[in-house]
Amino acid sequence: MDNITSIFKDKKLKLTPQRIAVYKYLKSTKEHPSAEVIYKALQEEYPTMSLATVYKALKTLVEVNLIQEINVGEGNFRYDGYTNSHSHIQCLQCGKVDDIEDICFQDLNKKVSSYTDYEVLNNQIYFYGICKECKKNSGN
Ligand SMILES: [Zn+2]
Ligand SMILES: [Zn+2]
Repeated sequence: MDNITSIFKDKKLKLTPQRIAVYKYLKSTKEHPSAEVIYKALQEEYPTMSLATVYKALKTLVEVNLIQEINVGEGNFRYDGYTNSHSHIQCLQCGKVDDIEDICFQDLNKKVSSYTDYEVLNNQIYFYGICKECKKNSGN
């Protein structure tokens, strides 16, 4: 586990138990949970923490780039403790979101630059499909 104290200090963030809990939780999972899921997961250990507090902590952590917000088109955000550039794939059947690792789409920025006047800085790419488990369960 990274040294959260120094990471937060680096970002000039006040170390509140809520922020630490939310950050630790996101670092411990690859599930890309929504705020509601994080809230429920932390409820046992932090019974007084409200959903609004979870949202606030998430917003702060996104602002300083400690976590990233992803939107696979569900109408609400999911959160990711890994801020390196990576793509996501969502299962159209069970809705889970996985990382796609070891392939980088940063070179797309350069490509897209030739189609627009914009200076392209970033991109977010989402793929959709059927995960291994769902494929197995459907008997294919
Ligand atoms: Zn699935
Ligand atoms: Zn991810």
